[in-house]
Amino acid sequence: MKVENKFALIKENIEAACKRANRKQEDVTVIAVTKYVSTERALEALNSGIEHLGENRDDGLTSKWEVLGDRPVWHFIGTLQTRKVRNIIDKVTYIHSLDRLSLAEEIQKRAKTSIKCFVQVNVSGENSKHGIDPENVISFIRQLDSFTNIQIVGLMTMAPNTENQTVLRNCFRRLKELQKEVKGLNLEYAPCNELSMGMSNDYMIAIEEGATFIRIGTALVGE
Ligand SMILES: *Cc1c(COP(=O)(O)O)cnc(C)c1O
Repeated sequence: MKVENKFALIKENIEAACKRANRKQEDVTVIAVTKYVSTERALEALNSGIEHLGENRDDGLTSKWEVLGDRPVWHFIGTLQTRKVRNIIDKVTYIHSLDRLSLAEEIQKRAKTSIKCFVQVNVSGENSKHGIDPENVISFIRQLDSFTNIQIVGLMTMAPNTENQTVLRNCFRRLKELQKEVKGLNLEYAPCNELSMGMSNDYMIAIEEGATFIRIGTALVGE
């Protein structure tokens, strides 16, 4: 199916979820996750009106960036090895996977301008998931006050791989609560207005629980 048609369906679902949650549709930004697909398919997404692209590997991002340049807003969404930071830092606007101090130090060192970062939180507690434990998020963010090249725009999580709607909803709800806590600190470098949560299988629940960025691969551009 054309990206255009898939995007039309997703937009209808976003509209419905926003209505249920009494939210504005324009407060939800779709990131097309292009990690499984070709540069041509990523270009098709841009031509369908999608403005944000997400990649989870430095080489995937770089090869598409070489063709598409700065036309999309680039998001790095995957686990980021410290030594890979220099490969992506001049290409991305957002990093969704800030999960440790050593990574923050490397971003601080390599970035030429302030990078919008999400702190990745392991809400579900699954060992396979990266991210900071919820109880350590505040102290982690407090440690970033001298990092002039890092702005904490929000929190990010990956929900557990389950069909159980209650489990998914509770996960997103917990991240929203944490976001409010961080916001309440009133730190200039951590406005924390955004929530990056929701993927192909759970984005509607995520929107109902407050997602402002949803990251969709399979359902939007294909596997
Ligand atoms: C792959 C990936 C997605 C998109 O997953 P889909 O289920 O294909 O929509 C979202 N977020 C992250 C961090 C990913 O790695």
